[in-house]
Amino acid sequence: MSDRIFNFSAGPAVLPEPVLRQAQQDLWNLAGSGVGILEHSHRGKAFTKVVEEAEADCREIAGISDRYRVLFLQGGASLQFAMVPMNLLNKHATADYIVTGTWSKKAVEEAKLFGEVHIAGSSKPTNFDRIPAPGDLKFSARPAYVHFTSNNTIFGTQWKTEPPVPPGVPLICDASSDIFSRPIDVSKYGLIYAGAQKNLGPSGVVLVIIRNDLLKSVRDDIPTMLKYSVHAENNSLYNTPNTFGIYVMGQSFKWIRQLGGLKAMAERNEAKAKVIHDAIDNSDFFKGTAQPDSRSLMNICFRAPSEELETKFITEAKAAGFDGLKGHRSVGGMRASVYNALPPEACERLADFMKAFERTNR
Ligand SMILES: *Cc1c(COP(=O)(O)O)cnc(C)c1O
Repeated sequence: MSDRIFNFSAGPAVLPEPVLRQAQQDLWNLAGSGVGILEHSHRGKAFTKVVEEAEADCREIAGISDRYRVLFLQGGASLQFAMVPMNLLNKHATADYIVTGTWSKKAVEEAKLFGEVHIAGSSKPTNFDRIPAPGDLKFSARPAYVHFTSNNTIFGTQWKTEPPVPPGVPLICDASSDIFSRPIDVSKYGLIYAGAQKNLGPSGVVLVIIRNDLLKSVRDDIPTMLKYSVHAENNSLYNTPNTFGIYVMGQSFKWIRQLGGLKAMAERNEAKAKVIHDAIDNSDFFKGTAQPDSRSLMNICFRAPSEELETKFITEAKAAGFDGLKGHRSVGGMRASVYNALPPEACERLADFMKAFERTNR
């Protein structure tokens, strides 16, 4: 640990130390095969075991029933912005989107290419500082699906529970920045997708959990590589997948299970975020940018009294061993991303640093 610093990066982000240690070994020689994980055929026995275990562990920690398929795809969450409407929407149908930040807006733009989009709710008028109240959501008459972003990485807001959707309408979630940070009731969803590089693994692989019935309604007139049904029929091995990404994701699932599963993960994440939220709440120097009842346990956005002080904070924090604290350019200020793998000690040390900085710069 001594040659590594505290990494608060928004993504790609910190990975669990045991996962990295295991990956170091398996990079050289996977499970005594004499061949490293990067060098194994995706059709060989060794990799088949990797992908089957990854799926089984994913199903176990999230309690995913056989009514769902678990897929490991490529193109990141951004390709899912297009794949979801491409597969599940058509020109004569309407999909409802709840807009709570930059990523939801991008998802909307892609959906407009394939059908009608209705904005069922938006926190844009208050610069995305909150999650819309259930009563503020207005759904269209018969949406093909409702799409929302469970955690808004850039603005630091997070849904506490799923938005209430009209009965029978599939709920679709971009869970890229809070997947498996807390228990999730998969049965409430039609489809969940998440780029791995925040909570699960390296960039370039995306986890997709899709309900079986939606696979049947996949459109025919779209490219093969972009059909969920093709990836499901081929167990994510239609073409050469991101084998290393799937491997690391699988190791992360094992790590989550060893830590006690998603409930334990949620307790750990709540305690971690509280340390930093307290440092903000007990200060009249730092100010959180998200409304308190909407704030995220994953990305904590805060400001100092001036931009000069913010630059100073980020520079001095970096010198003290805290990296990745600069806020996204669309919000400014600071952002501490405290994903699953960030050790609790990192949050405690950052809170101490914040208090010391406030004392000397007030
Ligand atoms: C990071 C992020 C994305 C983009 O992921 P890519 O893998 O870069 O496409 C999409 N949605 C959310 C919520 C994110 O945090």
